[in-house]
Amino acid sequence: MKTAICPGSFDPVTLGHLDIIERAADIFDNVIVLVMSNSSKYQSMFTIDERISLLERCIKSKNVVVDTYDGLLVQYAKEKGAVAIVKGLRAMSDFDYEFQQALTNKSLYPDVETVFLTASGKNMFLSSSMVKEVCTLGGDINSFVPADIAPDIYKRCKGDN
Ligand code: ADP
Repeated sequence: MKTAICPGSFDPVTLGHLDIIERAADIFDNVIVLVMSNSSKYQSMFTIDERISLLERCIKSKNVVVDTYDGLLVQYAKEKGAVAIVKGLRAMSDFDYEFQQALTNKSLYPDVETVFLTASGKNMFLSSSMVKEVCTLGGDINSFVPADIAPDIYKRCKGDN
């Protein structure tokens, strides 16, 4: 059984993330979507538990579970016996950072491969930060996030909860 990990912040999950998760679920036997805290990166809009719950509400594939971890990704991969870390690649701007991460992870734990899936054309410029910005400024995010969770994001952006 081959297990892959899809790591990220998922603050919140977008249709771009879901596309990568579902494509990974078609390739691997099991997929773990790993919500990383990355506290240094930015101030998050949703807590880790909220992000997990939003992900669980939109993931339909049966071979996908959601988990969280605040340590080293390769350590988690080793513990789970994962063979791959699956990342989505959007524009060239993702490349430098992802390449550096993949090489670092490979040198820390050579048994895990980083697999890049290219973003679908329609999601090429979609990011969680873009969703938050558009939503906070009153724009329409319905074509960026799963319909099931759009109301939760609107509420949070309006400061209603
Ligand atoms: P973001 O950059 O939106 O904050 P994350 O840190 O949560 O994203 O990213 C988790 C993973 O999902 C990364 O591999 C990232 O490249 C990928 N990803 C994010 N948005 C998209 C998208 N629109 N299409 C494909 N992959 C994406």
